[in-house]
Amino acid sequence: MTALAMGALPASGLFLEYFPPMFPPAEPAPAPKPWIAAIAPYVGGRATSDTGAKLIKLSSNENPLGTSPKARAAFAAATNALEIYPDGAASALREAIGAHYGLEPERIVHGTGSDEVLHLAAGAFAGLGDEILYVRYGFSVYPIAARRVGAHPIEADDRDYATDVDALLAAVTAKTRVVYVANPNNPTGTYTSRAELARLHAGLPKDCLLVIDQAYTEYLDPEDEDGGLELARTQPNVLVTRTFSKIFGLAAGRIGWGYGPAAVIEAMNRIRAPFNVATAGLDAAIAALGDKEFVARSKAHNDTWRGWFAGEIAALGNTGIRAVPSKANFILVLFEGKLSAETAYHGLMARGIATRWLPGQGLPHALRITIGEEAVMRRVAAALREMAGEAGSAPSEGEGA
Ligand SMILES: *Cc1c(COP(=O)(O)O)cnc(C)c1O
Repeated sequence: MTALAMGALPASGLFLEYFPPMFPPAEPAPAPKPWIAAIAPYVGGRATSDTGAKLIKLSSNENPLGTSPKARAAFAAATNALEIYPDGAASALREAIGAHYGLEPERIVHGTGSDEVLHLAAGAFAGLGDEILYVRYGFSVYPIAARRVGAHPIEADDRDYATDVDALLAAVTAKTRVVYVANPNNPTGTYTSRAELARLHAGLPKDCLLVIDQAYTEYLDPEDEDGGLELARTQPNVLVTRTFSKIFGLAAGRIGWGYGPAAVIEAMNRIRAPFNVATAGLDAAIAALGDKEFVARSKAHNDTWRGWFAGEIAALGNTGIRAVPSKANFILVLFEGKLSAETAYHGLMARGIATRWLPGQGLPHALRITIGEEAVMRRVAAALREMAGEAGSAPSEGEGA
């Protein structure tokens, strides 16, 4: 007897005649492990409105310039051999990555996106009752990766939305097996310096794996290089993860990778599915690495429009709207005045634009907005200004689109 039936018909004698109460003993059924049942499902970026209309997506940090034409051609060419298994060792990709970044191919593990690599790290190095540590407002995959293996997800306090190395170190216990740090971080866009990252590593026990998630590293200026790969090359307990989903514009290809000590990579490969990536994704990723012009153009676009958009948000300062300083391809915008993040989220959606509202991550007062095409960013800035005015806080004169 479902709640729907109960609500749809009155509980009269007639109702009982046609639907006699049946409470059979519960059938045995597979029960998810309690730590799996405790997982809050991942919520992806919206692509359609409540009415099903297609939206401009500023909700998943995808590349507004698309994909390298060379990568697209390689992806398409892979349809010539659909009956053949992909190379389970991804040898050509690991060699291409090794040559591109000056890394040893045998110390690279490939994943179904870097999400899988993050999961492999938890799966190989943490288990029931262990602790996995990350910063509050960290990437939403970390708690899922922790719970999946029965480990406790532990959140350290942030410092003004950024990673607080002291808080992380203070939260380390004898049970801490893995520490995840995204740099730049998602959803905040904040950045941890090379010196701070080195200090974090130096303060961790050597049997604790530090995972430096560099999904947005290509958006950093050269002087902000965080030294992650150098730590992974020289230390026994550091893994760096990278992805082709962001600046390379290959989110649909599902290719990520990790670089670390041989023993760490070897353990992760033991639990990796043998054919975890498709041929098209592998071939496209190799081609994408070779298209430096596309990557440079993507970074230049991001620099320009992230800077412009941050300026527009700063001009709304007297409305209680402000931006967390970002070094990634998105900006976390805080709504601390009369216009709420929820109202702004729905208002932008009504104007055809999807952003990421994150009440489930402790950020009901914030929207994460991907840096999109110029015209779209101008629309977002104008809409925020208009909505702030409608909410009763008058933006200062002179700025705006
Ligand atoms: C987008 C993202 C990833 C990876 O995504 P994949 O598509 O699985 O490679 C990893 N970490 C962070 C912080 C991200 O934002």
